[in-house]
Amino acid sequence: MKAYIGLGSNLGNREENIRKAVALLEKSQGIKLVKLSPFYETEPVGDIPQGKFINAAAEIYTAISPSGLLAVCRNIEDELGRVRTVKWGPRTIDLDVLLYGEEVIYTAELTVPHPLMHEREFVLRPLSDIAPNAYHPVLGKTIQELLEGL
Ligand code: ATP
Ligand code: CA
Ligand code: CA
Repeated sequence: MKAYIGLGSNLGNREENIRKAVALLEKSQGIKLVKLSPFYETEPVGDIPQGKFINAAAEIYTAISPSGLLAVCRNIEDELGRVRTVKWGPRTIDLDVLLYGEEVIYTAELTVPHPLMHEREFVLRPLSDIAPNAYHPVLGKTIQELLEGL
């Protein structure tokens, strides 16, 4: 299955955090890294004052289930020392499952496509660099169309 992971960091050495996360993704059993987007520096969104982010997106081929993929993402966050404080607060690293093929998933722990991806330029911009024609199965639009619609 082709899937897309969104990455973000705004604490510590942000680029290195993203690179390390990508290296750990690449090393994970059942995951093959296919594409990595350029890195973008982005303004934090929301009411919490915090530093700018670096954001990127990765395309992977994976044999792992969606919930297994979420677990891999959480393990990588833990390994890179992410501490969970305030929701939407600063973080060493954040990995989100953006798309999993064209599957639509609503469980307590996982919503795919990621529920806010279509509103977020910091997600859509890097994603459109590597997957402009990837399809959002809920909104019925491509990533490029979603980005143009912002
Ligand atoms: P946002 O969802 O607005 O990007 P966040 O990334 O800051 O917020 P986290 O604290 O990293 O939020 O994650 C909270 C929970 O979101 C996770 O524990 C996970 O169970 C859940 N979640 C639901 N859908 C997804 C998804 N597609 N990718 C990653 N986590 C998800
Ligand atoms: Ca996130
Ligand atoms: Ca997250």
